[in-house]
Amino acid sequence: MRYISTRGAAPTLDFEAVTLAGLASDGGLYIPESWPSFSRDEIAALAGLSYVDTAVAVLAPFVGDSLSREELHDLCKGAYGRFAHAAVTPLVQLDHRNWLLELFHGPTLAFKDVALQLIGLLFERFLATRDTHLTVVGATSGDTGSAAIDALAGRAKVDLFMLHPLGRVSDVQRRQMTTVLSPNIHNIAIEGSFDDAQALVKAMFAHQSFAGRFALSAVNSINWARLAAQVVYYFYAAVRLGAPERPVAFSVPTGNFGDVFAGYVAARMGLPVAKLIVATNVNDILHRALNEGDYSVGTVTPTAAPSMDIQVSSNFERLLFDLHGRDGAALAASMRGFESTKALSLSPAMRAQAAELLTSARIDAEDMALAMRRASEGSAMLIDPHTAIGVAAAQAVDLPADVPIVTLATAHPAKFPDAVERATGHRPQLPQRIGDLFEREERYDILPATLDAIEGFVAERAVEA
Ligand SMILES: *Cc1c(COP(=O)(O)O)cnc(C)c1O
Repeated sequence: MRYISTRGAAPTLDFEAVTLAGLASDGGLYIPESWPSFSRDEIAALAGLSYVDTAVAVLAPFVGDSLSREELHDLCKGAYGRFAHAAVTPLVQLDHRNWLLELFHGPTLAFKDVALQLIGLLFERFLATRDTHLTVVGATSGDTGSAAIDALAGRAKVDLFMLHPLGRVSDVQRRQMTTVLSPNIHNIAIEGSFDDAQALVKAMFAHQSFAGRFALSAVNSINWARLAAQVVYYFYAAVRLGAPERPVAFSVPTGNFGDVFAGYVAARMGLPVAKLIVATNVNDILHRALNEGDYSVGTVTPTAAPSMDIQVSSNFERLLFDLHGRDGAALAASMRGFESTKALSLSPAMRAQAAELLTSARIDAEDMALAMRRASEGSAMLIDPHTAIGVAAAQAVDLPADVPIVTLATAHPAKFPDAVERATGHRPQLPQRIGDLFEREERYDILPATLDAIEGFVAERAVEA
């Protein structure tokens, strides 16, 4: 399998190179040259498989020659063996047609573990045979940071520098990052906002002599391997609800468009997906884009679902690539326009093409709280604010009554205890396995939000490539 850039002007790479690369050199995102396809019989054959065996079957065409089948199996077993539920991503029934796919049984209680646990092992495996040391840098508003830290802690030949905004992540989120004391993990609290942290990371990548000297790499959802790992649970869930005979819809709480794009990939591979519901909160750029063709950046409104408080959804570019007929030069021109005007419009033809598979809903704070309360009262289940937006979106769209809808439950309710308690009157408890989080020692450095300060800090601690 070869990977091409959405902007058409970067070298094509194999899976190993694309996993280590992050962004393409032309500013685009890597995507498979063509979609692998699964026949009905191949999908039916997934029916009795464990999560690990499903992952091996679904990932094999993406991995190509970069790993043997045995190696891929060992890595998946290592990654998913750390999940606290034997089904890895269990399906739970909410009512007669709605289901939750619980993606939060990993070590840090958010769906990002599903991809990042595997990425950590892929990095280690691919770096083992190379004479390189990688310096991963990232900015987080909460969930990505802890998942990346858990996945990379103690791994050979990788250092991770994770920036979070000082005082602006929850106590649980901060402690999940700062109590990991491995010497290759470096937590930096920035005296600034999440946007400042993200801008600093971008500036480090743009500083080419610095990026080259320390072999900077990224683990945010622009990384193709992350998306590939997320395709697996769409197959796993749909097959359990009757695919390939019965099509299934998915409602996906969306921020950077990574998770829902993985569902799009599953559909392109032949999985019968009735609809993908793009669930947004009041930060609704994607809802506006899909409904009115208006992909224009507004200001971010903070909500109780912070992982969805995003205006520019990086992975939307991957969908736009298909909507531009996979013409990299045409998309590069569109993206240049978007970068200068902060707006892009989708033609009616593009919207119609997207609408074959995608629909969307915008859920405000009141409907989010109502969904949490209904799940608590009607099904005796506590759901987190992100999941609640997915559940509310599933109610809001109009799909045929015989189509089951699976909402992706992206975070454990105990990650957002205050919002859940406000809506339901019940305070969710942290699972036993991370129950001593508040007794553990913390370690992090506080730095001013300047490029000089961050680069100086990294240069002192990272290994030159
Ligand atoms: C990251 C995250 C999302 C958004 O996922 P994207 O892939 O960015 O669309 C939704 N919910 C939770 C809890 C998250 O951590």
